Parts: sequence; structure tokens; C-alpha cells
Amino acid sequence: MDIKVNYYEILGVSVTAETAEIKSAYRKLARQYHPDVCGNDEESVNKFKKITEAYEVLSDTEQRKKYNMLKGIYTERVEKTEQTGKNEKAEQVNEETKKQEASKAYKQTSQKQKTQQGFSNVFSDILDNLKNKQSTSKNKSKKEQPKNGEDIVCEVMLTMLEAINGCNKTVNILVTEPCKACNGRQFINQTKCRACDGKGEEQNHKKITVKIPPSVKPGSKIRIPNEGNKGINGGKNGDLYLNVQIETSDIYKYDGLNINYNLVLAPHDAVLGCTKEINVPDGKVSMKIMAGTTQGQKYRLANQGIKKGNKTGDLIVTIKIDIPKDLTQEEKDLYKKLQDVANKETAK
Ligand SMILES: [Zn+2]
Repeated sequence: MDIKVNYYEILGVSVTAETAEIKSAYRKLARQYHPDVCGNDEESVNKFKKITEAYEVLSDTEQRKKYNMLKGIYTERVEKTEQTGKNEKAEQVNEETKKQEASKAYKQTSQKQKTQQGFSNVFSDILDNLKNKQSTSKNKSKKEQPKNGEDIVCEVMLTMLEAINGCNKTVNILVTEPCKACNGRQFINQTKCRACDGKGEEQNHKKITVKIPPSVKPGSKIRIPNEGNKGINGGKNGDLYLNVQIETSDIYKYDGLNINYNLVLAPHDAVLGCTKEINVPDGKVSMKIMAGTTQGQKYRLANQGIKKGNKTGDLIVTIKIDIPKDLTQEEKDLYKKLQDVANKETAK
């Protein structure tokens, strides 16, 4: 437990959130940031850890109570007439003012209730209140009621060429589906389903291959209807959303419909000229490099960029000359010979 961290903020729930709400927020985030979905990069893994830690603390009544106390979060008890709805006022205070606020809250509470009540009793009252609410919401449980599946959001990383040309991409997602044992009904012969512990749903890893259209831009969202979490008891299925990310590439860059492409040449190719094959949206194009091409020189290949409607951009090729570093003995000898010839020429 780390009181420097705001677990409520991490899960995106209010300080008065019920356990069911916390659980649902956690599930949604866990699905979104699960390493199987997001990959094992440090950022995603840390995010997933934080979410899990927040859930572990806030879903445990004792731990949540302790955390709230240490963090100076208190939920103010309201008068009985208002107590029925979701009207509990939530207040969160920072570390500095927590003592002041706590004593103020204590005074307010005791005034309202006209009884002497310790701070911790306020907590246990609230917690009891929460418990009661939970059990009532469990009693009038959504048994057999249709429940729509939530959408799943997932990141997909494309190379520049995949984004330009379009491709088929397989993504791993964690899908909530109706429990196979009880068919989402939560009970079998009036006994709580053991397979899903009465939840009526189960989570499964699933691979989905998605056709990515050509010319997709970074940050675009692709919606795949019906591939989100499955509806339960006849509820609608959610959708799957792919957030498109494009690998930053030094080689290809978008500029409207034009594509900027850096072509790396060896010094001898630049000096003598050559022919190079370049990958373009339509396939490959063969490009003639003139003898005496210099660093930074640009070639424009008309209509080899991105197509949109009846417009087509160009491919703009910029020459980068790469000075070789790991030369073979033969190459070194040839460069030496070249150097000697050049020195002789200047000596004349
Ligand atoms: Zn079940």
C-alpha cells in the first residue's frame, strides 16, 4: 500500500464507490492494459501493476479502510433522510489539511448525530452501510437479466509500410464471455455455478485477425463490431476498437499524401550512380540514381505516394550517404588505392 498514490484516481472511481463499481472499473482497465494485450513494455507493465495494486487495496474492506484513514480520505455521513440514495457526499483532502479536516468532520458528524462518536466509528458506519448496500444489490442480482458486453479497446502497432499498404494484423484480446458451464445464468439447478463462482461470465484470451485498410493514419480508430465483450443472457455484444499506432520510422514519413523516404547510399553508389528498388504503396519501384549524387539531394517520384480519391501524392526520396565503417581488407585496399590516386592528382 502506497499512500502517495491515489488509488481512486487510478481506477477512475469516486471515494464513495461501491465494491462492485471498483471491481467493474478494475476489470475494464485490466482488460485494456493486460500485458497480453498491450505487450510487455515497461510502461504497460507498470500501469497494469498499479491498476492491480489499486484494486487489491480498494476491494479489501480492511485495507481500504486503512488506506482511507492514512490518506485522510473520509466520506461524510449524511442525515438519515438522505441516506437512501447515492447521495453520500465525498470529500477528499490533501495530506496537510487532513488533521484539521478530520477534526472538523468529526465535529460535523457528531453535531448531526447528536451523539459522541469517534472518527473510526464514522468509518465503520460507512463501511457497514456499504456492506448493506452490496448485499441488497446482490440480492436483487441481475440474475437472468440481459447484460450488454462492454467495448474492448486495444492498441495495434503497424510499420509504416503496413500502414501505407494495409495489412492483416492479429491482436490478442481478453474477452469476457458468458460462462460455458451455466450459460451466463449464474446458477445451475438453483446452486451457484462453481465454474464461474456465480458470476455468469468468464474471461478468455482470444486472437482476432483484423484487416487494416490502406493509408491508415496514426491515432485512427478502427471499429470491429461485435468483437468486444460478449453480451450475457441475450445482451448485446460490445465492439472492439483498435487504436492505430505507427512505428516511428526514419525511413518513411508522411507529408499529407506525399511520402518522404530516406534512401541510404554507399559512397561508391553515389559517385558512380546505380539503380535501387524502393517499396511504395503499389509495390516496388525501380529508381535510377545519377552518377555524382550528393548527400541531401532529393528525387521526386510522381504519383508514387498515397492515393486518396482521385488524388495521388508523390514519393520524395532524400539521399543519405552512409560512410562504411566495417571494411574488409579488400575494400580497405581499394580505398587506399583511391586515396593514392587522388593524392597523385592533387600533387600534379
Ligand atoms: Zn457459470
